[in-house]
Amino acid sequence: MDGEDAAIWRGEVHVTSLATMYKKVRFYTRESVGAEDIHLPAEELDSEAFVLTLTDATASELGLNGGDRGAAWRSLGSLLQRVAPLVVRCQPRDLGLSSQVRSPHFQRPTLYFYDTVQGGVGLSEILFAAHRRWFAHALDVVERCECTHGCPACVGPPAQAGMLGKESARRILRHLLDGPQLVGAPIEDAEEELARAR
Ligand SMILES: [Zn+2]
Repeated sequence: MDGEDAAIWRGEVHVTSLATMYKKVRFYTRESVGAEDIHLPAEELDSEAFVLTLTDATASELGLNGGDRGAAWRSLGSLLQRVAPLVVRCQPRDLGLSSQVRSPHFQRPTLYFYDTVQGGVGLSEILFAAHRRWFAHALDVVERCECTHGCPACVGPPAQAGMLGKESARRILRHLLDGPQLVGAPIEDAEEELARAR
């Protein structure tokens, strides 16, 4: 797939979820009053994933650069995760998200959306087939939202998505929809190892 600026993939993944800390919040106000480390065994999951990759050059051209790029990339993932129920019958929590600015496997910015059910129930297959409609729903949310730099209704507030989070999400989604049709491919070497901090 080299030479293409964006690509979609589908395949089996092995997800390791590790809780590394917990946050203490005040009742009612939800005000954060600190965090502490915890040590729990990792949870393992074998499942299927839909994967979106961009080349570094395209990502940078579309505003995914600077110190906030990880936050912006992840917030695009969260937005897609939230609108997934518009194209596939699921709850947002049925779809896990792993966001990597440089995936060890693809060597580029990568978003994994995986079935949170052991073995997978076919969500990634439907998302793969309907990805254009899925991306269009996400773009619609970003473009209709009246906020300036992102808010909880679209990509998340700037403290979470970065100051350029909304603009880069809009540009990336528009690029994915206006560019050449994305041709999907299976993930090579079958298993991709994902680690996700909870
Ligand atoms: Zn907004």
